[in-house]
Amino acid sequence: MRTDLWVIHLDMDAFFASVEQRDNPRLRGKPVIVGGSPSSRGVVSTCSYEARRFGVRSAMPSREALRLCPQAVFIRPNHAKYAAVGRQVRAIMRRFTDVIQPLSIDEAFLDVSGQDAVKVARELKEAIRSELQLTGSAGVSYCKFMAKLASDMQKPDGLTVITWERAQELLPTLPVRKLWGVGPASEQALNALGIYTCGDLLAYDPDTLRKHFGKRADELRMLAQGIDPRPVVPHREAKSIGEENTFPVDQTDREYLNQLLERYADNLSAELKRQGMAARTVTVKIKWNVFVEGGPRGGDFLQITRSQTLPMPTNDARTIGRVAREIFARVEWEGRKVRLLGLSVHNLVKKGELFQAHLPI
Ligand SMILES: [Mg+2]
Repeated sequence: MRTDLWVIHLDMDAFFASVEQRDNPRLRGKPVIVGGSPSSRGVVSTCSYEARRFGVRSAMPSREALRLCPQAVFIRPNHAKYAAVGRQVRAIMRRFTDVIQPLSIDEAFLDVSGQDAVKVARELKEAIRSELQLTGSAGVSYCKFMAKLASDMQKPDGLTVITWERAQELLPTLPVRKLWGVGPASEQALNALGIYTCGDLLAYDPDTLRKHFGKRADELRMLAQGIDPRPVVPHREAKSIGEENTFPVDQTDREYLNQLLERYADNLSAELKRQGMAARTVTVKIKWNVFVEGGPRGGDFLQITRSQTLPMPTNDARTIGRVAREIFARVEWEGRKVRLLGLSVHNLVKKGELFQAHLPI
């Protein structure tokens, strides 16, 4: 065992789509797209590997995805379900270490110092496969940056090890966009200086690089050498839980929307109870059918959130539902229609001394 290999990056494969295929055998082997409907203004959230073969990608408009892959099966995301499966994955991770840093619902770093990291990665993947019937790809390395790079190299169901020696072979030709924190804008700025690979970056005059990138220049040079001293920082689980839906047709039916809030409240309550948590704040989110131009994305639909904080935390479905309806009843419509309705709970606390599950308000 190599003691310098201590960090694992685990990334579930096509997570939402894989969960749907697992739960519905008729979807297996088919191009599955989880996201908004192509007949509305939806976007692709996740797609199965079968759909990827047609060029479908996350964040693409669903309409475009349908054009590329007309036989695709579209499924609306069920975030409560994915969150529950994500927690099952997290629970499996915790058998191996407590030092887990989630990056999103389906990926995390694990600090497995003192253990055989490659063996842990293999066992972790095997437990996820046998217990959840899902696959993830693991990267094992001597630093976080390389572990994340590694997990992406043999997807799906990959296990890739990058040692320091291997990193030194990979880095000279590694495109700069693969560096941590280099997005499309930084990539363009680097390319404009003739820097395309980590090799180019290191060959470039450090002072000139600092003139363009300030303090980040030195960080980039470190990463380009495969040096990343950051530790795995465990942080707490979700600080809020929520559910929302964009409607295919803008809504004006208050009764229907109230019923939807009740349904959300049932789901959020079940989720809170499963986690042994209670919430103090209830938030209703509404997106209106009014498009507002401006902002970094060129505009978006007008959105409001309205919250109410309770005197005591609760996880009772009826209480959450009632508060949600009260908040919703106070909203001024001003002739608009509802494009999206969401409900979330915040200020979560562990079930404890001050906790009352069925609080009359
Ligand atoms: Mg993933």
